[in-house]
Amino acid sequence: MKKTRDSIKDIWGDRTPYLGDWPVRVDEQTDETPDKWVQSACVLCSNGCGLDIGVKNGKIVGVRGRGVDAVNHGRLGPKGLNGWVANNSPDRLTKPLIKKNGKFEEASWDEAMDLIVQKSKEVIEKQTSQGIGFYTSGQLFLEEYYLLAMIGKAGLGTPHMDGNTRLCTATAAAALKVSFGSDGQPGSYTDLDIADTILHVGHNIASQQTVLWARILDRLAGPNPPKIVVIDPRETYTAQKATVHLAPVVGTNIPVMNGLLNLIIQSGKIDHEFIEKSTVGFEELKKIVSKWPPERVEEVSKVPSEKLRAAAEILSNAKMLVSTALQGVYQSMQATAAAVQVNNVHLIRGLIGKEGCGIYQMNGQPTAQNNRECGADGDFPGFRNWGNKKHVQELADLWNIEPDKIPHWAPPTHAMQIWRYAEQGSISMLWISGTNPAVSMPELARIRKILQKKDLFVVVQDAFMTETSKYADVVLPVAIWGEKTGCFTNVDRTVHISHKAVEPPGEAKSDLDIFIDYSHRMDFRDKDGAPLIKWNTAEEVFEGWKACSKGRPCDYSGLSYAKLSEGSGIQWPCNEQFPNGTTHLYTDGKFNTSADYCETYNYDLDTGAANDEEKYKSIDPQGKAFIKGVDYEEPHEMPNEEYPLWLTTGRIVYHFHTRTKTGRSKELQAAAPDGFVQISEQDAAKYGIADGDMVEVESRRGKVSEPARIGGIEPGIIFIPFHYGYWDNADRSRAANELTISEWDPVSKQPHFKYSAVKISKASEGILDKIGDAVEAIKDTLKPKEA
Ligand code: SF4
Repeated sequence: MKKTRDSIKDIWGDRTPYLGDWPVRVDEQTDETPDKWVQSACVLCSNGCGLDIGVKNGKIVGVRGRGVDAVNHGRLGPKGLNGWVANNSPDRLTKPLIKKNGKFEEASWDEAMDLIVQKSKEVIEKQTSQGIGFYTSGQLFLEEYYLLAMIGKAGLGTPHMDGNTRLCTATAAAALKVSFGSDGQPGSYTDLDIADTILHVGHNIASQQTVLWARILDRLAGPNPPKIVVIDPRETYTAQKATVHLAPVVGTNIPVMNGLLNLIIQSGKIDHEFIEKSTVGFEELKKIVSKWPPERVEEVSKVPSEKLRAAAEILSNAKMLVSTALQGVYQSMQATAAAVQVNNVHLIRGLIGKEGCGIYQMNGQPTAQNNRECGADGDFPGFRNWGNKKHVQELADLWNIEPDKIPHWAPPTHAMQIWRYAEQGSISMLWISGTNPAVSMPELARIRKILQKKDLFVVVQDAFMTETSKYADVVLPVAIWGEKTGCFTNVDRTVHISHKAVEPPGEAKSDLDIFIDYSHRMDFRDKDGAPLIKWNTAEEVFEGWKACSKGRPCDYSGLSYAKLSEGSGIQWPCNEQFPNGTTHLYTDGKFNTSADYCETYNYDLDTGAANDEEKYKSIDPQGKAFIKGVDYEEPHEMPNEEYPLWLTTGRIVYHFHTRTKTGRSKELQAAAPDGFVQISEQDAAKYGIADGDMVEVESRRGKVSEPARIGGIEPGIIFIPFHYGYWDNADRSRAANELTISEWDPVSKQPHFKYSAVKISKASEGILDKIGDAVEAIKDTLKPKEA
């Protein structure tokens, strides 16, 4: 047994100050001494830390960081060090289940798959394959997404495929496409080692990507600490380390970003040559942001004008700037528009495509990037453009099918629309893999109603019985991380291989094997009558993906399982030209925007209206980046007399998504056993609420009860983490998404989890008694020690 630190109390570990190199520190947590170590990476956030899985007697007994990995240099955070325990959980699903007369009964794989195939054929007969929808995850591996994309797009020919990446990082992809022509983060984590300035917008990096934050803390502990600007309504760990912290009211990211851009332009410290040579749209942006002097920004966002000026001065003088954005931008009003303004800061200052200059339109989920690359969500494989006939033909050639089989007459259906179609009945079979919409989607009462519809056949593929699985008609038990081989790509484009370390429990199978089996049973064929899916192993699918990605921005053609197994992660594009991968994109000032190469024909940021091919060709920027501005629009639901407060939701350091895995780690669960509502001191006093009191929170859509945590948030706003559902505590209504609203960004279609109008009141004594110990436990564990 080895534990290099108690990562629950000491989240980021000892400081190893940056002195020209980020020192290796190998973190380890094992229950027993392993017989062997198996190469992998962490799958509990988008940072993608390299790690080895420790195995003894065919069982996972722990993990250790990979010192050679460029992402983490051996470090692991609390989720990485503790999350593996879920693999050994006694409540893993081990056999397929079929619901009969309202009760699940164990079934053989043949029975379960035959039923799924029979239902698929019935739906196709009645409604065509457009009656079938897929809703997947940020947890599958690259090979599984690519295979699923082929099954949906080339086997069935349904446009209804998306994933919970829509809830998490659809805006990251949209903002990159809008500005640079395609998805793909421009920089590298190594930029953080040398940047003199860091901007975090709506991103509590200290809690969400703990190892990346440790890298920043080590810069702060070194001789040339960077200046940090944080934009976040809450006083997070990240905000506590900021040089300047701007705390805007909910929904006002655009006024703040426009105000900053206005001041930067006014300072004159913009890169005229870069703007002229490599961008289009600057004059229009200048006109829009000029309407946002600091005093007007203060009026709307409540950010003091002198603080805005201080932040703008830092950004104007930055020589090497790294910016990050996450859910505070992506799940809020004008999401894509605001994320694009972060890109604009770099474009007008010419701080892109260079060492020390990175933009991270962050991913939240570990394999979200692969879902976007491979096209199992609302994108086309290889960052291809659904509106470009040449791109569709390329896919048809690769898959040896007719191009008309691939649904490309309209944009792929986004998740919110998939659920709407299921609600209305035009989708009558929904296949959910590796995710838990009964806790993670907005407006849960509505989602439960949809899942319970008698005319909706629901397949759930998961390792555990989740809040969603219980509504399924068929549940398929899956092998998870550590129990199968495959690749995944983190947010700085680093591709890792994760080797199978142990056998899955019982009869559980990998998602890949399940999808291959489905394809064979459905008898999907190519245009020559050969089986559509010709692969049997993950490595064969990876080779197929290499061919699909070749020549596209996410080019994997120079990678192989052998190469990925030699050292550690490698950043795409990796091809003949860049055999060792690529740290920075756009180093020549040329972007992926030319009409024949771009992933999208771009959008109107206000309305989301998409350009068609003809219109785009008339404005083809031929490799120049788009600078696009937008003016402010109020959130769709504002506080009023009845619902006077804003609710914003988010994550905490110890849990991932809906806790399906992290809730089964004793240490992570003990560290954060229950939800809570964070309330400012002023609002707590106004409503007579003390720390730990049970509070009822109500919106127009639902009601929850949560213990109060007082402080660290602006008055008028409350915060509830969205991780907590009902599988381990059904005593009260507590899922934050009971309250949230079914609204979404017009461009990225990402739902707005960051604002709902709510009212609060102290709960009655009865509820307080019921919760008892949980309230006390949470009071002790919400303030971990900072190293
Ligand atoms: S930072 Fe993310 S990837 Fe790294 S160990 Fe923590 S959860 Fe895993």
